[in-house]
Amino acid sequence: MPDQSSTPAPAPAPPAATQQTASALEALVPHLTSVCGRDGVVTDPMELRTYECDGLTSHRCSPGLVVLPGSAEQVAAIVRACARARVPFVARGSGTGLSGGALPRTDGVLIVTAKMRRIIEIDPASRRAIVEPGVTNLAVSNAAKPHGLFYAPDPSSQQICSVGGNVAENSGGAHCLKHGFTVHHVTGLEIVTPEGQLTWLGDGTGTAPGYDLVGAFTGSEGTLGIVTKIVVRLTPIPQAVTTLLAAFETMRHGGAAVSAIISKGILPAAIEMMDALAIEAAEAAVACRYPEGAGAVLIVELDGPETDVHAETAAVRAIAERAGAFEIREAADPAERAAIWTGRKSAFAAVGRISPAYIVQDGVVPRTALPEVLDRISALSAESGIRVANVFHAGDGNLHPLVLFDDTTPGQEEAAEVLSGAILDECIAHGGSITGEHGVGVDKSRYMPKMFRAEDLDTMQLLRCAFDPAGLCNPGKVFPTPRMCGEVPGVRHGPHPLVASGAAEAF
Ligand SMILES: Cc1cc2nc3c(=O)[nH]c(=O)nc-3n(C[C@H](O)[C@H](O)[C@H](O)COP(=O)(O)OP(=O)(O)OC[C@H]3O[C@@H](n4cnc5c(N)ncnc54)[C@H](O)[C@@H]3O)c2cc1C
Repeated sequence: MPDQSSTPAPAPAPPAATQQTASALEALVPHLTSVCGRDGVVTDPMELRTYECDGLTSHRCSPGLVVLPGSAEQVAAIVRACARARVPFVARGSGTGLSGGALPRTDGVLIVTAKMRRIIEIDPASRRAIVEPGVTNLAVSNAAKPHGLFYAPDPSSQQICSVGGNVAENSGGAHCLKHGFTVHHVTGLEIVTPEGQLTWLGDGTGTAPGYDLVGAFTGSEGTLGIVTKIVVRLTPIPQAVTTLLAAFETMRHGGAAVSAIISKGILPAAIEMMDALAIEAAEAAVACRYPEGAGAVLIVELDGPETDVHAETAAVRAIAERAGAFEIREAADPAERAAIWTGRKSAFAAVGRISPAYIVQDGVVPRTALPEVLDRISALSAESGIRVANVFHAGDGNLHPLVLFDDTTPGQEEAAEVLSGAILDECIAHGGSITGEHGVGVDKSRYMPKMFRAEDLDTMQLLRCAFDPAGLCNPGKVFPTPRMCGEVPGVRHGPHPLVASGAAEAF
């Protein structure tokens, strides 16, 4: 059984630089400067601090060195130099990650893809685009728009997050309910292996025979290599789109509407829900003017052929009314649609208006368990005296509880962490997961043993070791106890149950 004991301690900070590691880094500088140019290598301690965290600011570490390559060949040369010197390295896109995946190391090199922003090709005929990893998510859709196409995965951070980061995190977004996650839209990857070799995974069609290495790489959180080009699938812009905003007195009423929509066989592009506290924050930040007195709002977006959308809109309206919606708005044009989405898309940042500090949690539960888990979250919040605002992708059960605390009050941050962990326990207990889209990174590696047995974690690490035998590529992320790649699985824990039963063979 996975270990289900209470909130585990945070992951230890990455090791501090020793005299030896500092010398190794110093020795790399002339070579890296010859590869990336003087302005492509950052060594100034103040400038290095710019990169000390990602969107999860509770984990911080100043990198030993930062490099900003301009091409795949430069990335390969940097990684080869690190591999030769046995210096760890971490990739970073835009640094919007929320699990500390891009947390650098004092004894390592941070490889930032911000200069690799070329959209190399848009091919409307094959509905494919080839982009560099530093291109922002929204830039792909903007470039595809004149061809009647768009890039479907749409994290709320899409104006700034990079496609390379999206691949590493297998990012989702509001419209992933119908359109799928990043992994469903990536058909080929050029990568630099952890030994510094430039190679392609997948043939760009998404139909290549053999192991699905593109699928394995997508979501691997920067631990299997560095992505240097991405072939993405483009989707036709739907003929019609309707956006509805339904206001309910309680979350339970809103939740009932979600279940009824799905059980009717309707698959909206998005179903998003916000509770009263999240609405209050959004009002304070962007004056989204959601209906007054709402205990919950539901945003339902339907897209597709005009006749289907028309019929489904009428059906969703009727369902929402039956579930108790006291006001339903339908966007009449793109401006009104944007206004409805403004509140939802700004919700994470907006919470800063009503609380000095907060944790953005990311857990998943089966859709049917939503009402029960939401009740448990509000009970846990009441017991601990810590406020929780709920914003979530209701259609796929991906919760984003925002745990609010005052970091100037001693003990509050720790209490918020405990509450945050208790929410994840509820997700696991209801058959869900510790992350839906923000990844494990450094922050949630401690929760992995709650979901997986040690043998299963070992099996996962075999994949990591196959790509990165030296353990230099984003070490300390995803796994609570990194294994050395020379270790044989099973030695620490006895034979894997599948091996013991004769169903599988260790070799
Ligand atoms: C306000 C806000 C809203 C958000 N909304 C969503 C949302 O709706 N859905 C969602 O899924 N996420 C969301 N996120 C989280 C975040 O934006 C995504 O995880 C995003 O994909 C991270 O991209 P990035 O370029 O910022 O990556 P970074 O934070 O720089 O890195 C993330 C991870 O990717 C790795 N990485 C980066 N580039 C590469 C590369 N070229 N090759 C290999 N590994 C690489 C890093 O090592 C790290 O492990 C949100 C974040 C914020 C701040």
